[in-house]
Amino acid sequence: MVGPRIFRISALLLSLVWSAKLAMPLEFDDKLVTLTPEYVTAGSPELIRVTADGATNVSGEWMGHKIQFFPGTDHVTWFALAGVDVEAPEGPSTLKIHEYRDGPQGLYINTDLNEPIDIHPAHYRTGKLTVPPKFVEPDPEEQTQIAADAEIKTKIFASTAAEPLWHGSFHAPVHAAPTDSFGTRRMFNGKLASIHKGMDFRAPKGTVVRAANSGVVVLARPLYYEGNCVIIDHGLGIYTLSMHFSHIDVQEGQHVSAGDKLGLSGATGRVTGPHLHWAVRWQGAYLDPAKLLRLNLTSVR
Ligand SMILES: [Zn+2]
Repeated sequence: MVGPRIFRISALLLSLVWSAKLAMPLEFDDKLVTLTPEYVTAGSPELIRVTADGATNVSGEWMGHKIQFFPGTDHVTWFALAGVDVEAPEGPSTLKIHEYRDGPQGLYINTDLNEPIDIHPAHYRTGKLTVPPKFVEPDPEEQTQIAADAEIKTKIFASTAAEPLWHGSFHAPVHAAPTDSFGTRRMFNGKLASIHKGMDFRAPKGTVVRAANSGVVVLARPLYYEGNCVIIDHGLGIYTLSMHFSHIDVQEGQHVSAGDKLGLSGATGRVTGPHLHWAVRWQGAYLDPAKLLRLNLTSVR
């Protein structure tokens, strides 16, 4: 009589599980939060999806960043495009999510969720590079320009559109061979160590560079290291940066759609030759552009 006994026990367990589920005020458990890509590494962009039916607002915190979610077209699924900085340490982390609802006394937190997320090692390479000495040891005049550039960038990254401006997946900015150089630890002239926080495309001078997605051009000007640089704000802290242009075709404040011409690639700034350096930034974190290009966002918005 082993069979029926097992059946009774599993039926009892099943009913317990069901009653536990029904007792919850909202269908909002671990399985209803998903991250894509699922395997999270330093440098991963992450599409975070939360099911929160009836929510007025959803926000969160992860690794010192505040995350503002936006509702999908069904108003049941909420999304955030976030990520893990290329320099983030591996190990456990906690994604906190708060689901807000409207009540008689105003907005209140209906559900708080702590989602454990492991940051896995990313295995980036180490490379050596030789550039003109002035880029490693800039003279006082050049240092003044570098400081002025830093101020401009700080100002630009301090404010971002309060809603996502992108629509659908991100597209490669050029028709040119990409490299897997993101995250490479670089030694400049055997001295200055830096991490390559973007993706290089082997674009000959004059290659048309296009907007990867819709947004607002927040910077379109020459900078010391970046050369002729174009930065697009895609909203909620997501930016794409294109560097070393020979010619810029857009103006600061201009709204662009995916595929719009930003300019022509070149070899301005700190370079060893013509190429497009393309970077993805989220709230100060640099993310792997190749992974963003692989992220399917067509059904998100
Ligand atoms: Zn580069």
